[in-house]
Amino acid sequence: MRFVDEFRDPNLGRVVAGQILAAVEPGRHYKVMEVCGGHTHSIYKYGVDDLLPANVELVHGPGCPVCVIPMGRVDDGIALAHEPGVIFTCFGDMMRVPGSRGSLLEAKAAGADVRMVYSPLDALRIAKANPDREVVFYAIGFETTAPSTALTLMRAKAEGVPNFSVMCNHVTIVPPLRALLESPDLRLDGFIGPGHVCTVVGARPLRFIPAQYGKPVVVAGFEPLDILQAIHMILRQLAEGRCEVENQYTRVVPAEGNPRALEVMAQVFELRPHFEWRGLGFISQSGLKLSPAFADLDAEIRFGVPGVRVADPKACQCGEVLKGVIKPWECKVFGTACTPERPIGTCMVSSEGACAAYYNFGRFAREREVV
Ligand code: SF4
Repeated sequence: MRFVDEFRDPNLGRVVAGQILAAVEPGRHYKVMEVCGGHTHSIYKYGVDDLLPANVELVHGPGCPVCVIPMGRVDDGIALAHEPGVIFTCFGDMMRVPGSRGSLLEAKAAGADVRMVYSPLDALRIAKANPDREVVFYAIGFETTAPSTALTLMRAKAEGVPNFSVMCNHVTIVPPLRALLESPDLRLDGFIGPGHVCTVVGARPLRFIPAQYGKPVVVAGFEPLDILQAIHMILRQLAEGRCEVENQYTRVVPAEGNPRALEVMAQVFELRPHFEWRGLGFISQSGLKLSPAFADLDAEIRFGVPGVRVADPKACQCGEVLKGVIKPWECKVFGTACTPERPIGTCMVSSEGACAAYYNFGRFAREREVV
């Protein structure tokens, strides 16, 4: 297949749905976690779950980069944005994530110079155009976006841009998956692996899941047929008693990942001893910071940030949603106090967040799921 609409062909979708139905064992309930928020978005947008048998349940995972940012890091960003002379830059979704005293968008309304960018290079361009101002880029994302931050930092250093710095909130996917697998709350049968992250890191880092926890993993693309095929591959592994990492997304994910991207990440970043995740708490070696060679471009060192830990609001159940323990609509404030217009938790902000995806595309199917 060459064109994107071929990956959305309803007739082929029905064929794969039939193969899935044929692969399930009657009387067995299957729980499959889609790790990545991009998968969650596609599942609801295209109604993939409507094509599945009732005993195949999709559980949403922690792979939405905006959703995992804790309140304290948002507060730290807002504190930086209010520093005199600072132009604070971030991705659009990030501007609406609530901290304990509002969002970056509200900080902008209150007078802080907060600007939306599409890439870290945009932030670097703003720095070069405003040499009398300090420009901070608030970097978020998994291994998918970390290489672009790394390359921007290398360029800033090579070109000697003294007024550019990065507040690094990049995270890595393996530690939260390990934490989930260790959690007694959750019984899973398999994983739809994160296609974007694996484009950079390859499929190898996920091998611990079948090796140590006995669960199949299929790295998948983001079109509806990709996801259906990945579910079928997981069910086939289970039916055949196999347990391994398979790659459905071979048109994009190389077995060994992207060596050049891994190389620049290794030059620019190092692991933090621990990093706080929204709703999941502190997870060891799960976050990245700038390496000593790039410390002069580290906004946390240049400005000093408050670094205060802030508890999530009592009503917020993002942690349970991110761990797949509850469905978005089971949160008490879903669609009432918490909506995409006025989010309480992060999962309602990004289009990759499970709550926003369900609110935007899936809310009318709720009764069917409850039955
Ligand atoms: S509805 Fe809002 S508060 Fe509840 S889990 Fe979703 S984002 Fe969090």
